[in-house]
Amino acid sequence: IDLFSPQRHERPSPLAVLRDIFGHKAFRGQQADVIEHVAEGGDAVVLFPTGAGKSMCYQIPAICRPGVGIVISPLIALMRDQVEALKQAGVAAAALNSSLSQDEASEVRRQLRRGELDLLYVAPERVATPGFANMLADTQIALFAIDEAHCVSQWGHDFRPEYRELIHLVELFPGVPRIALTATADPTTREDIIERLGLEQAEVFTTSFDRPNISYSIVEREKPREQLLEFLAGHKGSSGIVYCLSRAKVEDIADWLSNKGIRALPYHAGMSAELRSSNQDAFLKEEGLCLVATVAFGMGIDKPDVRYVAHMDLPASIEAYYQETGRAGRDGQPADAWMSYGMADVVQRRRMIDEGNAPDEVKRVEHGKLNALLGVCETASCRRQAILAHFGETYPQPCGNCDTCRSPVESWDGTDAAIKAMAAIYRTGMRFGAAHVIDVLVGKETEKVTRFGHQHQKVFGQGKELDARAWQSVVRQLTAMGLIVVDHANHGALTLSEAAHSVFKRERNVILRKDRPKKSVEVRRSLA
Ligand code: ADP
Ligand code: ZN
Repeated sequence: IDLFSPQRHERPSPLAVLRDIFGHKAFRGQQADVIEHVAEGGDAVVLFPTGAGKSMCYQIPAICRPGVGIVISPLIALMRDQVEALKQAGVAAAALNSSLSQDEASEVRRQLRRGELDLLYVAPERVATPGFANMLADTQIALFAIDEAHCVSQWGHDFRPEYRELIHLVELFPGVPRIALTATADPTTREDIIERLGLEQAEVFTTSFDRPNISYSIVEREKPREQLLEFLAGHKGSSGIVYCLSRAKVEDIADWLSNKGIRALPYHAGMSAELRSSNQDAFLKEEGLCLVATVAFGMGIDKPDVRYVAHMDLPASIEAYYQETGRAGRDGQPADAWMSYGMADVVQRRRMIDEGNAPDEVKRVEHGKLNALLGVCETASCRRQAILAHFGETYPQPCGNCDTCRSPVESWDGTDAAIKAMAAIYRTGMRFGAAHVIDVLVGKETEKVTRFGHQHQKVFGQGKELDARAWQSVVRQLTAMGLIVVDHANHGALTLSEAAHSVFKRERNVILRKDRPKKSVEVRRSLA
């Protein structure tokens, strides 16, 4: 027996690791519960928002347990940052990925064989290969951590087919605890993650996704640059991110802001690696810098004092919006999430989806996600409530910290409309998408309507007082309120939530935002 092998050392306690290695005083939220559970060999699913401190949840048990913790991470850049930070803290960490030279890779393998590593980061496509499994066969493994676990789900916003292979970890390494972590998962995605990773027996840890210090506002685009400038005027001297959809727009807005005397730098994937990293460094180190970026910027960036995140274009989904705005205010101090959006965005997003290479099923999901986000944009009630409803959370009262709470929008009592729409969904069996339900409401005898005999339903043509465009908005708003639930697993069929009953019984009123005439939401036929 080698008395000096690391496995023989006394294992430290989680709290000692937190304090001595990471320099934090106490555990946050449920960190201690997760760590204890995993350190004792349990499987876990961790659903905490960005900034909650998920990394500790696997890093500490990996250090406390004998053997190496294998961390599956989707991005090489993310791995590199994490490994760097761990090494600085004195943790034996390494990464195996395609960016290593042959020599570097064999050095990592050597360390692994000798049991010298506490944490090894690997890309998902590598883990399930026979070569890798063989390599690990003689290695003591502390745990598998599956970071960004939503990548396993088609319903998530960042599907990576390689993640599907991770299900094999169960058979390949029986008895090794697995912990899956994600910051963003609506209920459909959560269930899918658990099923796809075979984590039915795992303990699920979840906290509220509310970010109370972030104030949300969403404005209709009129003069976008002036609107942005006005917003930034309230943030002189603080750091923030302005997201744009295209590289050209990034350059354009960065130039324009610079001309207006605001220190702004661009960041997008079309720039040289040097310029990108020097702009990123400037953003991390300087104060009061505005980084104008595409979504290429942000994942894995740990800058706690980002005071604002502005969107010049509509993101792809509520998850994406939540993720991107979540980069603001990680220090817990007040921060602003501001977005300007217009119908041109919607058209553009629709086109991006339609022209993409995804299968029809996935395109349908993407259209559904866009609709859900539009629901948040159009809601007459609290934005925070609408966002959290999407994550399956009920926020008890209007938050008082979003634009609709602060200055109520023009609204109408949509209770009757809501009941009609929900009745149409219910009477047609909760099996159809928005387009068909609306055809039924306005009494349009399409082929599909006659095929299912829906022209004989009592609800058929009961919604003639509104046009299809208005009904689209009603349906989106009801979805944002959590009354209608879109079943992505069933072709985007509209279903009703528990909460819908109270509206049917007229125990509550449904207040809807007034559509302004210039907001011509195009009617879209679902792909179904
Ligand atoms: P997530 O992965 O959930 O987005 P991270 O693991 O990146 O969050 O942690 C976010 C920030 O919080 C990091 O700067 C981290 O050092 C810090 N952090 C994590 N746990 C604690 C704690 N218990 N006390 C203080 N800071 C913490
Ligand atoms: Zn609110």
